[in-house]
Amino acid sequence: MKRKFVISIFLILICIFSISTLLYAKEIKITAENLNVRTGPGTNYETIGQVQPEDVYPVLEENGEWVQIQLDEDVTGWVHKLYTSSVTNEKNEKTTDVNQQIIAKEPKKHQSFSPLHLQGKTIVIDPGHGGRDVGAIGVRGRYESEYTLRTAQLLKQNLEQHGAIVYLTREDDRYLPLVSRVSLSNQLATDVFISIHYNSTPELPEVTGVGTFYYNDRDKELASFVQEGIINQTNMNNREIRQADLQVLRTNHQHGLLLELGFISNESEEKNIQKQVVQKAFARGIVEGLQKFFLNAPR
Ligand SMILES: [Zn+2]
Repeated sequence: MKRKFVISIFLILICIFSISTLLYAKEIKITAENLNVRTGPGTNYETIGQVQPEDVYPVLEENGEWVQIQLDEDVTGWVHKLYTSSVTNEKNEKTTDVNQQIIAKEPKKHQSFSPLHLQGKTIVIDPGHGGRDVGAIGVRGRYESEYTLRTAQLLKQNLEQHGAIVYLTREDDRYLPLVSRVSLSNQLATDVFISIHYNSTPELPEVTGVGTFYYNDRDKELASFVQEGIINQTNMNNREIRQADLQVLRTNHQHGLLLELGFISNESEEKNIQKQVVQKAFARGIVEGLQKFFLNAPR
């Protein structure tokens, strides 16, 4: 009886030991795009970067629905299990010879962990027009000032998810002179100022497309990154990137762009702009461009 008990304890211990070695050797593959990596097991923890589909990372620890992964030699982070799949580790089964294991170089895994380049960056978003200045008027009588506010709010949300500190020049439908829009940007010594607009040419209703405008030569690259991001995410007509003498950019001491996110004088483009998926794609595209800008910017 006693002997049987000792044997079963021994077997249980062997089981625990093999399970823990299994856990240690475990790897996961990322299955979601731009998956947030956090400092702890929960959405209340800070986001430190993003990983991409097909990336494979060693698992260090598990906690409920979350796994801690080794991102880099000295960087670890947590991702939600829902957006990962487990990887069977063939390598460990094959290498039985200890010496061989030491000599064998680990194959380079597919890893594209990108730290958040927007973390702590101050961005001022300027929803064009507002109040008595309605801006352009769409095919069905809707105002540019409505559209710009909606885009700005979605962009703010997205940027904040990436760790940026975001200010809007106006939060509701009110008139705001151009001077006030710029002075907020200058006061805050913002990293990037973005004025959001929609275009209109009622005399040429067939005209469509996205345009990005900059004033200073130093913002040419920023303009092309952001335009590229928007076109990439929306598939809209890539109309133009142009240097333009616009007051909100000229009097601004910070990096700045003015975006014309399509023509509301074109019936189908206006319809498209009204869609939430397109609005979200604008935000993603702008964020994509800004990430690239900060990645390339000298620190
Ligand atoms: Zn406008």
